[in-house]
Amino acid sequence: MDIADQAARIKAGERRALARAITLIESGRADHRAQATELLAALGTEHEALRIGLSGTPGVGKSTFIESFGMMLTGQGLRVAVLAVDPSSARSGGSILGDKTRMDRLARDPNAFIRPSPSQTHLGGVARRTREAVALCEAARFDVILIETVGVGQSETVVAQMADVFLLLLAPAGGDELQGVKRGIMEMADLIVINKADGDLKATATRTQADYAGALRLMRKRPQDPEGYPRAMTVSALEDRGLPEVWAALQELAEWRKDEGHWTRTRAAQARYWFEEAVRAALLAQLDTAQARSRLAALSDAVSQGHQDPAAAAQAFVRELAAD
Ligand code: GDP
Repeated sequence: MDIADQAARIKAGERRALARAITLIESGRADHRAQATELLAALGTEHEALRIGLSGTPGVGKSTFIESFGMMLTGQGLRVAVLAVDPSSARSGGSILGDKTRMDRLARDPNAFIRPSPSQTHLGGVARRTREAVALCEAARFDVILIETVGVGQSETVVAQMADVFLLLLAPAGGDELQGVKRGIMEMADLIVINKADGDLKATATRTQADYAGALRLMRKRPQDPEGYPRAMTVSALEDRGLPEVWAALQELAEWRKDEGHWTRTRAAQARYWFEEAVRAALLAQLDTAQARSRLAALSDAVSQGHQDPAAAAQAFVRELAAD
């Protein structure tokens, strides 16, 4: 594979080249890994998109929202990529966007690019591959990258490590539901968006929004927030209502963070995080060779039979590994 040629095609916005590159980063083969790493390095980080993390429990309306919101943005001439971190794909091999006929309008839009969550054996693998897909889409000069995840806790944390702004989508509900949202996720959100503010649900949605606005006011102010953020808003993804307001809020937030230096600081901290994750992953991969596994098993037996002290055996093993 000609890395320089591929990089040029991606930067020129060739969708096929982008799709191929994402397939490459998702591959588990060692030679593919090496090529993927080379490609990412060749692409660099000269273009920055607005990366929007989006989370919400199944049924809250994520795909409906992404489609309506995405269509609104492409209608303004913006190029929109949609990626997903799906923790369930780690277990089942399925994925939130994989089986979908959902978002079919957006999928047909030439200014949109939709990619399902990679299926992997663990969340760490899904997270790293999604982070790399974000980098590829950014190099391909998308303006907005939506990174979707299902609200189960752990996956929000990894999405927050690759997003500039984080949007939590909620359904209208009674006040007692407020406690149902984990505090950690609330603290991560820049915008809490109550969807389905239409028809019979409209009044409940407005009440829910007021509840969350109240709860947000009680939270400690974060340094990365201008006055009035995080905010709670209502939308109807189905009826296309409130979406321009969400977009305006996200842009206001992004501009403020850029002006105040938070944007650069956050991206720098994220780069540090992914570097450390990559080091950890590489070290763990060293444990996964036939030689390391058999040596580990032998030492483990020796320890369990009392022939060796656990700490001493571990130290010996790590020294051997480093010497290899
Ligand atoms: P996801 O599982 O979070 O991706 O949710 P979906 O987008 O698949 O939506 C789940 C259900 O909620 C579908 O039946 C949608 O038609 C419905 N839905 C989504 N957005 C809205 C909305 O704004 N208003 C109403 N009334 N229903 C909605």
